[in-house]
Amino acid sequence: MERDAHGHFATSKKTKGALPVSPVIEVCRNDSCGTPGNQPRPSDGMVKVAGSADGASSHWYCPVRCASIARAKADLRKIGARR
Ligand SMILES: [Zn+2]
Repeated sequence: MERDAHGHFATSKKTKGALPVSPVIEVCRNDSCGTPGNQPRPSDGMVKVAGSADGASSHWYCPVRCASIARAKADLRKIGARR
């Protein structure tokens, strides 16, 4: 149980029962991963994922792994925004 001096982790702990997303997400080595969605597809197979259901900007991610993480984060954001 770590606590961030800035309260960031304390805040995220409110989302109990959320999907078991690993708190440590490895940085993707693909430079084009995370390219803003308003730009052309950076490379074949990249998947565009919306930042959240609230209309947060979308980004291009690697298929499967990064796209899944991005979707999970968008879901968490949606839950957190409900309050
Ligand atoms: Zn990636």
